[in-house]
Amino acid sequence: MPVFIRIENIDGTRLSGVRMRDCVAELTGLFAGKLFTQQQDMAPFLTDSRGMWHGNALAVALPDTVGDVARIIRWCQDHDVPVVPQGGNTGLSGAATPDKTGRSIVLSLVRLNCIRGIDKFNDTMVVEAGCLLQNIQDAARAADRLFPLSLAAEGSCTIGGTWPRMQAGPRCCATAMRAICASDWKW
Ligand SMILES: Cc1cc2nc3c(=O)[nH]c(=O)nc-3n(C[C@H](O)[C@H](O)[C@H](O)COP(=O)(O)OP(=O)(O)OC[C@H]3O[C@@H](n4cnc5c(N)ncnc54)[C@H](O)[C@@H]3O)c2cc1C
Repeated sequence: MPVFIRIENIDGTRLSGVRMRDCVAELTGLFAGKLFTQQQDMAPFLTDSRGMWHGNALAVALPDTVGDVARIIRWCQDHDVPVVPQGGNTGLSGAATPDKTGRSIVLSLVRLNCIRGIDKFNDTMVVEAGCLLQNIQDAARAADRLFPLSLAAEGSCTIGGTWPRMQAGPRCCATAMRAICASDWKW
C-alpha cells in the first residue's frame, strides 16, 4: 500500500518575488532601526567567520529587547518565513548562516548582551542570549566565582550560540563541568 508523506520545497520557493518585497516593507515598518535589509549592511551576517559558508536573507534583525525577539518570531511564524538565530557567528558548521534562497530572516542576538544579575548564594547568573562568553567569565571572576566554559572563540562567541551545541572546552574537563546548566532558557 502506498504511503503519502508531506515533503517541503527545499529551495524555499514558498515566497514569490512580490511577496518578498511586501514582507521586507512590512518588516521595515515594524522593526525600523532594528533591521538591516540592504546587502552591504547584511553582508557580515551572511557569511561565517571563516568565509566558508555564504547565504542570503530577506533581512537581518537585531532586536534589543526580549519582546522584540518574540514579535519577530511571531511575525516569521505568521508569514511562514524561516528564522536563523545567530550569536557571534563563530560556529564552524555553517549552522548560523542562512541558505542561499534569501527567504529567511537572520535573527542576531548580539544586542541582547546584558548580565542581569549574579546570585552568589545559589552560584547562578542570569544572562541574556547575546552575552559574550568572555564577559560572563569576567563577571563570574569579579564575583569570586569560576565559569569554567572556555573556548578560543570566547572573546567573540555568545552564550546563546554556545549552549545549543553543548560546547565545553578543556577547562570543563578539569572541573568536571559537562555542559552549561541552563535552568530557565526563555526568549
Ligand atoms: C577559534 C575558535 C575556537 C573554537 N573552539 C571550540 C572548542 O574548543 N570547543 C567547541 O565545542 N567549539 C569550539 N568552536 C566552535 C564553537 O561552536 C563556537 O565558537 C561558539 O560556540 C559558537 O557561538 P556563537 O555565538 O558564535 O554562535 P553562532 O556561530 O552564531 O551560532 C552557532 C549555532 O547556535 C545557534 N544560535 C546562536 N544563538 C542562538 C540563540 N540565542 N538561541 C538558539 N540558537 C542560537 C545558531 O543558529 C547556530 O546553529 C570554536 C570556534 C572558533 C572560531
